[in-house]
Amino acid sequence: MGKGAPTLVAAAVATAARWPHREAVRVDDVGVTHAALQDASRRLAGWLSARGTTTGNPVLIAAPNSIGLVVAYLSALRAGAMVTLVNPTLGRRELGRLVERVRPSATLASTELAQQLQGLGSTVPGLTLDVSGAGIPAEVRSLAPVGDVAVDSGDVAHLAVTSGTTGPAKLAPLTHANVVASVRAVMDAWRWTSDDRLVHALPLQHAHGLTAVHLSLLSGSRSMVLSRFEPATLCNAIVEHRATVLFGVPASYDRLLGWPGFERADLSSLRLAVSGSAPLSARHSDAVTRVLGHRPLERYGLTEAGFVLSNLYDGERLPGAVGYPLPGAEVRIVGTDGAAVADGAVGEIVVRGPQVFAGYSGADPTDAFLEGGWFRTGDLGIRSPVTGAVSITGRSKELIITGGLNVYPGEIEQVLETQPCVRAAAVAGRPSNRWGEEVVAFVVAEEGLDLEELAAAVARELAPYKRPKSYVVVADLPRNHMGKVIRAELTRRYRQAP
Ligand code: AMP
Repeated sequence: MGKGAPTLVAAAVATAARWPHREAVRVDDVGVTHAALQDASRRLAGWLSARGTTTGNPVLIAAPNSIGLVVAYLSALRAGAMVTLVNPTLGRRELGRLVERVRPSATLASTELAQQLQGLGSTVPGLTLDVSGAGIPAEVRSLAPVGDVAVDSGDVAHLAVTSGTTGPAKLAPLTHANVVASVRAVMDAWRWTSDDRLVHALPLQHAHGLTAVHLSLLSGSRSMVLSRFEPATLCNAIVEHRATVLFGVPASYDRLLGWPGFERADLSSLRLAVSGSAPLSARHSDAVTRVLGHRPLERYGLTEAGFVLSNLYDGERLPGAVGYPLPGAEVRIVGTDGAAVADGAVGEIVVRGPQVFAGYSGADPTDAFLEGGWFRTGDLGIRSPVTGAVSITGRSKELIITGGLNVYPGEIEQVLETQPCVRAAAVAGRPSNRWGEEVVAFVVAEEGLDLEELAAAVARELAPYKRPKSYVVVADLPRNHMGKVIRAELTRRYRQAP
């Protein structure tokens, strides 16, 4: 898609013209209609434009799941900005690094996060939004609405954050065309209609959760988002709103299965339960199938390339597989030479298509791409010679995915190694029924190491999901001839660690 193709803003305007009074998004108990969302986002876009934000400027938005966050997001797009959505649980150090990388022209933040930004010495224009449950923040209602800035589908909509294994966060620019193509592909594949009602309890700051907003803006369907995951609340929301679709990560399904009320709830309105962001075990897939009467549909995607592969909506859904390329996506499995491997052989998944970004910000545009524009996902996969479906077999990156969220060992190790009582540290993922993988830290101690104090120090620096679930004190770390820690060897040695 290039010039003239729809933008997220144009799609939102068209949907609001068609269904002005229909609820677009609800967060917990507060809903907002398309008309109200249009009005509020015009006002806040005016505030941004008046303070100098123009096409292509980054705007940092830091707020928990809330209507205020949705308004801020749409308003920044309207002002022509590229939006960076901040995970609201980031620690001070992480937020500081992100601000340095993004260099925003303005920030829109909830009260608490605005204070953190001020604490970091941010001098760019910032608006503090009270997002605590009252719907459209009062700060926005008092602003004057303005006309729209021209936005093209080739303009960058998101400056999305991904992390490098060791180095600083990578920024992945995604155009309006990329995002629209990605969302339309799943709408097509999953038979999406304006009558759909989606429920999830995922963070809106991540591409997976934000899809709820995009689906509603593009199709007029309703999205009910919960600010935190709790099995009973999630099931109540499905029942109350007669939800047709549920989005979750494997950890969400694990929690639901562990709650006795899941089997008793009347979830008959659901036509589809989607799982993504991490591997869903066949055991969990079977168990969810028994409760819902239909198999959860597993799909695969990543920030840089949007939705890529999905099991079939009609037809057999294969546990342990992520299925087939979504409309528009071309997928290959290649060897280290970049050539396609035979079906049945493991290789790296590479993808190209209208949903795939054009390269990391500030990096050589060919970085992470093979000749012909194939993006190297870093994930390893295998295509079944029988069904043609792709399964993910592992990651060539040293990424830990815990509860569907990515943790990069290098970042945690850096924090651990700044603590005076830690001589060396290595972090690895350990299989976990609840989280898919959980973060384990292996530390070589200096005298006087107190693990409780260490955990408290880490908690001051890192978001909860990144904090090690357990610590193992070891005499040394296994290293290769280049001095690099061999993580697989560590987890093998200490598999039984408490
Ligand atoms: P993110 O960019 O945060 O969306 O994370 C993308 C990564 O999540 C991918 O590169 C995969 O490693 C992983 N991932 C996403 N979906 C799946 C899935 N269905 N099964 C296994 N891994 C997945």
